[in-house]
Amino acid sequence: MKPLIPLVVAGAVVSLVSQSAIAQEKKPLGYQDTPLIPGTQWHVHDGLRPQPKVVTPGEFPSQAKPSKAPSDAVVLFDGKDLSQWTGKSGSADWKVENGYAEVNGTGDIVTKGEFGPDLQLHVEWASPMPPEATGQGRGNSGIFFFGKYEVQVLDCFENQTYPDGQATAVYGQTPPLVNASLPPGQWQTYDILFSGPRFGADGKLEKPAFVTILHNGVVVQNHTQLLGNTPHKKVGTYEPHPEKGAIKLQDHRNPVRYRNIWVRELKPVDSQ
Ligand code: MG
Repeated sequence: MKPLIPLVVAGAVVSLVSQSAIAQEKKPLGYQDTPLIPGTQWHVHDGLRPQPKVVTPGEFPSQAKPSKAPSDAVVLFDGKDLSQWTGKSGSADWKVENGYAEVNGTGDIVTKGEFGPDLQLHVEWASPMPPEATGQGRGNSGIFFFGKYEVQVLDCFENQTYPDGQATAVYGQTPPLVNASLPPGQWQTYDILFSGPRFGADGKLEKPAFVTILHNGVVVQNHTQLLGNTPHKKVGTYEPHPEKGAIKLQDHRNPVRYRNIWVRELKPVDSQ
C-alpha cells in the first residue's frame, strides 16, 4: 500500500492547482452580494452584467494639443496652475508640469467655484503608461458633480472591470452604452452634460439628476437618470443640496493626468 500514498497526495495537489486555475479564469469582475440596483436585474458592481461593446473612436481628440474652450466657458484648468481648485491642505497640491496636472496622492481636489444646476463640462485626461494593476486599480480617478455624483475615470482599454465601474459609468449605477476608451497614456475627452437634481423647500426630490456623456466624441450616456449619489457597493440615495455645487476630481492614488478643464452653466435662452 505504501507506494500509493504519494500518488494520492500528488493527485490531490494536481486537483487543487487545477481548481484554483479554473477559479482564476472565472474570477468575477465584480460583486453579487451587493444590493440590487432599482429598476434593473443587476447588483451594484455586478460582475455578471454584460460588458459594453468596444468602439474605436474616430480621429478624436488631438493628442498634440488641447482643444480650445468656448468663449463663455469658465476655464478651471488651462495647464498652468490649479489656482481654481482647493485640496486637503487648503491648496490643490497635485503635480503640475508640461501643461497637465497629475494625481499624486495628496487627496481629491475641488473647484473653488460652484456651478449648477445644469452644466456642460469638458475634461481631458490620460491614464498612466505603462499601465499598472488591473480592474479598478488601473488608472482610477473620477469626476464628482456637486461633490457627490461620480462619473468614473478609469483605464478601460483592454482592462475589464464591473461594467458600472468602468470609464464614463455613473459609478455603481449605469455602465456606458459602449466602451470608447483609448489606450493608456493617450489623451481622452469627456464632454458631459449634467443636469443637477432639484429639491423642494421641504427637501423632497422634485427632479432627479440626469447625465449625457460623449467619450472621445462617442455618446456613452444618453440622458441617464441618476438614482442618487454614487457610493461603493451601495445603492445611491438623494440628500437635498443647493442648486450650485463644486466639481471634485478624485485622487485614487493612480497618477492620472488632467488637462483642459472648462465648464459652462446652461441657462434657458430667455433668462441669459
Ligand atoms: Mg473613481
